[in-house]
Order: sequence, then C-alpha cells, then structure tokens
Amino acid sequence: MPERRPYVAANWKMHKTAAEAARFVEALLPRVEGAGAEIVICPSFLALREVVEGCRGSAVRVAAQNMHEAEAGAFTGEVSAPMLVEAGADAVVLGHSERRQLFNESDEALARKLPAALAAGLEPILCVGESEEERDAGRTETVLERQLDADLAAIDSADLARVVVAYEPIWAIGTGRTATPEQAQETIAFVREVLRKQSTEAADSVRILYGGSVKPGNAAELLSMPDIDGALVGGASLDPDDFAAIVEAA
Ligand code: PEP
Repeated sequence: MPERRPYVAANWKMHKTAAEAARFVEALLPRVEGAGAEIVICPSFLALREVVEGCRGSAVRVAAQNMHEAEAGAFTGEVSAPMLVEAGADAVVLGHSERRQLFNESDEALARKLPAALAAGLEPILCVGESEEERDAGRTETVLERQLDADLAAIDSADLARVVVAYEPIWAIGTGRTATPEQAQETIAFVREVLRKQSTEAADSVRILYGGSVKPGNAAELLSMPDIDGALVGGASLDPDDFAAIVEAA
C-alpha cells in the first residue's frame, strides 16, 4: 500500500485582502517549519501572487479556488488555468459546494475543468459532498458516486493519482457541525471504493481529505482515521495559530 502523505489545505473563500494574506503567511511559516504534512493555501485570485511570493523557499504550496475550463476566450469574469500557473499556483480547488450551490457549477463543467487543470500542471482538489436532506434520505452514497463518476469521467486512470479529493458534507461546512470521525471515515472509505472502479492503484494512493468545521480541537481525532488523509479547512484556516495547530495534528 503506498504511503499517503497528509495534506492540509486552507480554503480562505472570499476572505483576506492581498496585504492581509501576506501578513498571514509571515505569521504561519515559522509555525509550520518542518511539518510532516503537505500544506496548501487557497487565497482569492487577487492574493495569489502575495501568497506565492511569501511562500517562496518554503514547502507551503498555493491553490486557486476555481478556474474556467478554457485556456482563453470570451468568458467575462473568469480566470484560466494558464493564468493561474503564471501567477504561481500549484493547485486549484474545483467543485466546492459553495460554487455548486451558489454559482450553479455543474458536474458537466467539472468534467471539463479537471482535465484542463491537469493539462496545465495544476493539482485539482475536487470537492464532493451531500446535503443534509440527501444524508437524511439515505442517499449519501448515491450522490457521491454520481458526483465522482461525472466529475472524473474524462480523467484516465494514470492521471487519477494526481487528483486530491475532498469529502465535504454540505451540512458540516461553516456550521460548526462536524461529521463524527466514524461517519467521515465510513464515507471516505466509500469514496475510495468508488475510485477503485477506475484504478485500484490510484485509489490506494489518492489523498482524500475531510472538510467541514475542522478545528484544532477535533482535527487529531478526524485525521487519525485510516482513510482520512488530511483536511480542507475553511473558517479555522483564517487564523495562523489555529491553522498551524491543525497542520500539527496531521
Ligand atoms: C470549506 O470551506 O471547505 C470548509 C470546510 O469550511 P469550514 O471549515 O468553515 O466548515
């Protein structure tokens, strides 16, 4: 079984100006020096360059929070993978539930964005997750399988291991309600089984993160579960001490 290096990503959403982002990086780096986990910061597009500059020479990597699937074109307000690469991004979050719910991001668009990200050399962090209504109706596995099958449809099995998947139950995002470690483990193990349909090898090496109200106080327990390889952290990633504590727990 391949070793899966822990992975902790800070999703800042629409928080932090470029100046605030630069101050965060200055405060974070000394706190995470020598950390065993892979660390990724996901700032707004406009703070990408400051975070890239600030992290230069460290092991901390940088991700955008979205991108358009085309390289260029008449898509007002959008940003392409080559633009993100030029700005120094290493990765890109795709399919966050806020984008799916508030901006009508579809599985069809994600199926085009994933190969575009990989082709440009960006590591996609694909978010999947069910709503509270879907969980209560016993449809969690159906929803996740549908999202994964659709979003990864154009990725061949050789490239699958380059994708990071974040399981984020929508009812746990920004609500303070966390999935129990057992719930998260069970669902993430299911996600891994779905990936296994495409490639056993890749399923064993893909990092699958849990996201949803991860805090310094619950991170260690969640991250100790065998299939949970890291965390995608929203609210608690805005404070360098809290985020460093989560990295430490990983
Ligand atoms: C997220 O934005 O991906 C997230 C998990 O947010 P929070 O940690 O605030 O629930």
